[in-house]
Amino acid sequence: MALSKRVLFIFQAIECLCFFSLSQGNQQQFSLRNLPPLQKASSFPATHPEAYDYIIVGGGTAGCPLAATLSLKFKVLLLERGGSPYGNRNVSYMENFHIGLSNMAPDSASQAFISTDGVINARARVLGGGTSINAGFYSRASSSFIQQVGWDEDLVNESFPWVEDKIVQWPKIAPWQAALRDGLLQAGVSPFNGYTYDHVSGTKVGGTIFDDSGYRHTAADLLAAGDPNNLRVLLHASVDKIVFNTQQGRLKPRATGVQFTDENGRLHQAFLNSNRDSEVIVSAGAIGSPQLLLLSGIGPKNDLKNHRIPVVLHNKYVGKGMADNPMNSIFIPTKSPPRQSLIETVGITEAGVFIEASSGFGQSPESIHCHHGIMSAEIGQLSTIPPKQRSLEKAQEYAHTKLDLPKEIFQGGFILEKIDGPLSLGHLALIDTDVRKNPAVTFNYFSHPHDLTRCVYGIKTIERILNTNRFSELAAGFSMERVLNMSVQANVNFIPKHTNDTESLEQFCRDTVITIWHYHGGCHVGKVVDQQHRVLGVSGVRVVDGSTFSRSPGTNPQATVMMMGRYFGVKILRERLGQAAGCN
Ligand code: FAD
Repeated sequence: MALSKRVLFIFQAIECLCFFSLSQGNQQQFSLRNLPPLQKASSFPATHPEAYDYIIVGGGTAGCPLAATLSLKFKVLLLERGGSPYGNRNVSYMENFHIGLSNMAPDSASQAFISTDGVINARARVLGGGTSINAGFYSRASSSFIQQVGWDEDLVNESFPWVEDKIVQWPKIAPWQAALRDGLLQAGVSPFNGYTYDHVSGTKVGGTIFDDSGYRHTAADLLAAGDPNNLRVLLHASVDKIVFNTQQGRLKPRATGVQFTDENGRLHQAFLNSNRDSEVIVSAGAIGSPQLLLLSGIGPKNDLKNHRIPVVLHNKYVGKGMADNPMNSIFIPTKSPPRQSLIETVGITEAGVFIEASSGFGQSPESIHCHHGIMSAEIGQLSTIPPKQRSLEKAQEYAHTKLDLPKEIFQGGFILEKIDGPLSLGHLALIDTDVRKNPAVTFNYFSHPHDLTRCVYGIKTIERILNTNRFSELAAGFSMERVLNMSVQANVNFIPKHTNDTESLEQFCRDTVITIWHYHGGCHVGKVVDQQHRVLGVSGVRVVDGSTFSRSPGTNPQATVMMMGRYFGVKILRERLGQAAGCN
């Protein structure tokens, strides 16, 4: 074994050992022993590289289960632009959730972007994708969603448990989450549906990918369900474009492979083998997938020409129909500091509004004293930076200088509302041709009046919760007007505030809108991909991730996106090998 390989092997063995000891207390018995080596992109051979049946772009929420499943029968190359989630404390520990999000270093697992609406947002840049930086809540899509997208319900019902058995469990419900559960029921968001992954009206406790010790299990773990002999995973591999053969006469342009850049800035090409079923599968997420199609020459031809990108296929729909579910949150000061919690409980209202909560902050010295920039999910809404000075640069400066924020400002929790299936739509366009830079994304929050009506309904529901007996015992006793005012003061986005924010709930919604990071769209079924998710007008390319959705599934999408990776993996195996394909 060459020295570098031996070092890598030892490193991974140590990581796995750490993982096993850290996840003690987790009821799951899923073993990471079969995790394939996680190699750096620079290890890819420059000459005579192997050709693959499948090249998957993006080792995220959908990409990992998809790669694992396809590797059971075929040679798979998985290219992920970010690093490993293992051994990264910001990824692995719930108490560091907000620290990870506020880390704006170039190698951070979270890449910040600001939509043209003025809302600060984040996208994953790490193996495991969104599951490595998210709030962990796990809840399945409704059966009506599965019917609308036209998926095979039997296979869906096999694919959800495939994920759940490996990385999901029930939370030991935190006090703030139990309070929300009781408050929702007292406010009439009933019945109580207990602990369930299912999407049912009323109040419920859902699953989580954090175990009892707060250790995060991610989609990267699902790679251990694949065949390590067939699966090559490269980290820090940024795919610049899909390469097409356009010289095929009257035949459609056909993908032959991809071009990617390694961690040292060196260019590489990876090729598909000559089998006509071989494919590049794009699972780069709702920002990354439309961006990569555009950079590869698939999109509105005038936009491509403006960036001097050779047009492979004109398709005016690439990057169109982007949506982000607006989130508005209310900060509720409490009598004593609540324990930190991320989402565990949800109220599913008939009006198409979901009510969730988060509380406190990591109470460890590390968490209290480090990096609460304005990018973070929670302190971001309770920033001590004066509104006019809030910018990404200021946030970075703040993260360096802030050492002794008073503990009292951590005393409280958030109740938040999310609008299901926003009717306000936006778009994504390239700013330049460097895949590592964010494209311009516009969501047009609340441009559709029905979204605004639902936001107001959500705020009124939160007011009802605040007025319940349960919350009068817990909260510091401020009036609704006062908490709205505090929430406006603390809110961090780049949207100007108005003096009537606490009188007009419509104005409050518009001015304090933030994101719950469930953005989707850009490669819609019927417009950019067909029902099997094959890109229309070319051959050898599919898109499998949240960019294909017209609405975000369930209350929170990760369950359905991971299931989708497994689902399409099994579907593809069955297409190629027949129903008998064994894919455990
Ligand atoms: P991703 O998981 O983002 O995968 C895309 C992958 O592709 C990434 O790893 C990225 O690095 C890689 N990539 C992109 N471009 C390239 C390229 N050119 N070359 C190589 N690799 C590339 N959902 C829930 O259900 N529950 C929650 O509690 C929850 N909380 C959230 C909190 C945060 C902060 C965030 C950001 C999201 C949250 N979500 C939550 C949403 C959920 O995590 C995402 O919707 C989901 O993970 C998206 O999956 P995806 O496969 O579409 O994209």
